[in-house]
Amino acid sequence: MPTGTILIIGAGGVGSVVAHKCAQNSDVFGKIHLASRTLAKPDAIKKDIRRRWKVDIETHAVNADNVPETVALIRKVRPDLVLNVALPYQDLTIMDACLEAGVHYIDTANYEPLDEAKFEYKWQWAYQDRFRQKGLMAVLGAGFDPGVTNMYCAYILKHHYDTIRFIDILDCNAGSHGHAFATNFNPEINIREVTQVVRHWENGRWIETPAILDDKSIHFLFDYPVVGKKDSYLLYHEEEESLVKHMPGLERIRFWMTFSQNYITHLKVLQNVGMTRIDEVEYEGRKIVPIKFLKEVLPNPASLATNYTGKTVIGCIITGVKNGNESTKYIYNVCDHAECYREVGSQAISYTTGVPAMSAAMMVVKGVWKGAGVWNIEQLDPDPFLEAVSKNGLPFTVVDYKPLPASRASF
Ligand code: NDP
Repeated sequence: MPTGTILIIGAGGVGSVVAHKCAQNSDVFGKIHLASRTLAKPDAIKKDIRRRWKVDIETHAVNADNVPETVALIRKVRPDLVLNVALPYQDLTIMDACLEAGVHYIDTANYEPLDEAKFEYKWQWAYQDRFRQKGLMAVLGAGFDPGVTNMYCAYILKHHYDTIRFIDILDCNAGSHGHAFATNFNPEINIREVTQVVRHWENGRWIETPAILDDKSIHFLFDYPVVGKKDSYLLYHEEEESLVKHMPGLERIRFWMTFSQNYITHLKVLQNVGMTRIDEVEYEGRKIVPIKFLKEVLPNPASLATNYTGKTVIGCIITGVKNGNESTKYIYNVCDHAECYREVGSQAISYTTGVPAMSAAMMVVKGVWKGAGVWNIEQLDPDPFLEAVSKNGLPFTVVDYKPLPASRASF
């Protein structure tokens, strides 16, 4: 008899995959509630889930920026946990609501303030005592990256090494959606992320390098499994901050993401004309934020799924030491856009985020992961989680590999 009740907040590309995957696992998630700002998106997903899986879910409208409103919804549906796949801006209000209503919390992206593109865990780590005191669990960063990539590191450390020296996370989308320019997840969040100054961690400090749109940005051709050579740019990504804290002995961590020249050119133009600004400008007597307007005119990431072809390849190259011997492993997943579409009507970026988010929820609902407080996902046992992620569509491969060059000059 299934006992778990889940409340998913956010019904975009990721929320849709989470809801479908929970429905596929209705032996664990006996009751599935899906809420978003308005009912239109949750209701459309509910219909599709009914058609594909013959499972009925319940839908709700909630403004998750509003704590009392969110608490009222949680008290009404009485979930075991809230899975937050709305936007990073809602992280703190949803955490507040979970504390007040007494339920566990999971998300896939760290909090960032609306008026500053700043990716830091400090705001959410500050909830540690409050979650501990209430005996509740908050799991941070349970998507693919952050999420599975963190767990790849935890898994390699657990099974192969005494210490890890170097981590390179490589995120490749070799897919094609047929649009001149589009982002694969929420455009506002995506553009804020990729236009920031780049940082990586080396020998005990953060090193800043030019943003990906800068002519001096650091990039190189990496030969990915299955999809071949792709230009990969050094980028700051939030899991670097928590992995630096939780991987003992780590000397260097870098994050690389593939971008096509076409994407870079479009984004450069948008930035040069001011369309990526996150501050308010006056337009015909009212205030608008250019990047929010841009989001409205760009393709909705969920809509890209229909014609998306090609694959994503995301993983980590990890150098570590076991019994004094150093070696390097490459651990990665390959995911196919069109197969995701056939299965749940989504593209691979939403799919690779939604499957781990559902799997993390499964770990908490089944009591496999326990412990009061705020946890980055790599602090929890990677084995049952990666087993669930693999079983639900994202298996991984581990191969012996060679370390990536240490410095820019060597690429
Ligand atoms: P979308 O923009 O497609 O969906 C966001 C959803 O949240 C929409 O349904 C939106 O409703 C809803 N929402 C926004 N504001 C509120 C609010 N105040 N109250 C209630 N609901 C709200 O985003 P994605 O699905 O692409 O991404 C979801 C999350 O996943 C983001 O935080 C993103 O950063 C994260 N992510 C993580 C990845 C990882 O690997 N870790 C990878 C990709 C994404 P409406 O549309 O009506 O505004």
